[in-house]
Amino acid sequence: MKTVRDLDVKGKRVLVRCDFNVPFVNGVISDDNRIVAALPTIRDLLQKDAKIILMSHLGKVDHKDPVKTEADKKKNNMAPVAKRLGELLSMDIKFSPATRGEELKAMVDGLKNGEILLVQNTRYEKGETKNDPELAKEWASLCDAFVMDAFGSAHRAHVSTYGVPALLKEEGKETAIGYLVEKEVKSLGRVVHVSEDERPFVAILGGFKVSDKIKVIDSLVKKCDKILIGGAMAYTFLKALGHKIGHSPVEDDQLDYAKRMYETGKIVLPIDTVVADSFDDPKDIKTIPSDDIPEGYQGMDIGPNTIELFKGEIAKAKTVFWNGPVGVFEKKQFQAGTFAICKACAELKGKAFTVIGGGDSASACKQFGFKDEFSHVSTGGGASLEMIENDGHLPGIDVIGD
Ligand code: ADP
Ligand code: MG
Repeated sequence: MKTVRDLDVKGKRVLVRCDFNVPFVNGVISDDNRIVAALPTIRDLLQKDAKIILMSHLGKVDHKDPVKTEADKKKNNMAPVAKRLGELLSMDIKFSPATRGEELKAMVDGLKNGEILLVQNTRYEKGETKNDPELAKEWASLCDAFVMDAFGSAHRAHVSTYGVPALLKEEGKETAIGYLVEKEVKSLGRVVHVSEDERPFVAILGGFKVSDKIKVIDSLVKKCDKILIGGAMAYTFLKALGHKIGHSPVEDDQLDYAKRMYETGKIVLPIDTVVADSFDDPKDIKTIPSDDIPEGYQGMDIGPNTIELFKGEIAKAKTVFWNGPVGVFEKKQFQAGTFAICKACAELKGKAFTVIGGGDSASACKQFGFKDEFSHVSTGGGASLEMIENDGHLPGIDVIGD
């Protein structure tokens, strides 16, 4: 696959799809990791003296309810990203508030070699997530070459990730992947195809987005030797086995599936659980066996016996893929489980290949000071999961290849 390294683009307009979907706290960027991760590709294009157009989505924009649309647009304004990028590169970044039309075209036409234009949030456009062909035509017309460097969005066939490069290729224009995507593909490749001497392969799944993640288990059971399940997903499995789960979160329409997955014999569930009487204002907190969570309580973290059980499995592993905190790690009382997982993986340094895929898992590991102990911390949560699920294929990357 062609990379940005191979492009000869002096004076050409290069559209780069980045992943600037950064978190905000009170209107301020709280973690600029994703912007920093895009710098190698941007710097390379600067050195090549290209005219650089950057596009990314930021959050979600509801296009059904006009009141919500306006509120979402206000909340997910890309302008602060331009400012932060400018600070990181010590240069002026132009910003286009328009996502299409004459105003955008004029700004692109005004670009000089070695200048950067960041376009407002792609999801301001209703057609973006629908891969609208008209929008693809318009955005494709703005550039001579395209670079895909948004790994976190590569699992989505949207206009900016799929429609534009597909069209450019038809027109015989150059498309390539950026350095970030190249690194992700290489590292995640090692958990997509795991050879015998890199086993046992242990996956750890947690987090909150059960309906998104539970589908992946189907393919993980075929690839992994063990799947350790914590986080909110655990309760769907525990309920499927006939246990009482109190007020813990559960996906009732996934119970049969969860039972089937459990019957593969590869899934390891929590044996004890830290429960609380309330999520928002926990007062009564206790550790109890996982098979009998009483009414009025909900599971918030894995317990100490489960930590030992999981640690034992992790210690044997030669390859580890971890997606999703095993407890509500944002609250001090429920972070022991996630901390222990981080530490157990960190202790494998030099002995095993360890990968984190998932925004919250990555920030937990950063918060606990273990970030440099992992072999690879992926910038894409959903994308890394889907890449494993689809045997290394993602639409936004496949479209670049031949
Ligand atoms: P990632 O971003 O790593 O893919 P998710 O976004 O799926 O992970 O989930 C992260 C969230 O899951 C965290 O905010 C954490 O508080 C939450 N979580 C973990 N365990 C539980 C639980 N038992 N109950 C409710 N939320 C949980
Ligand atoms: Mg998350």
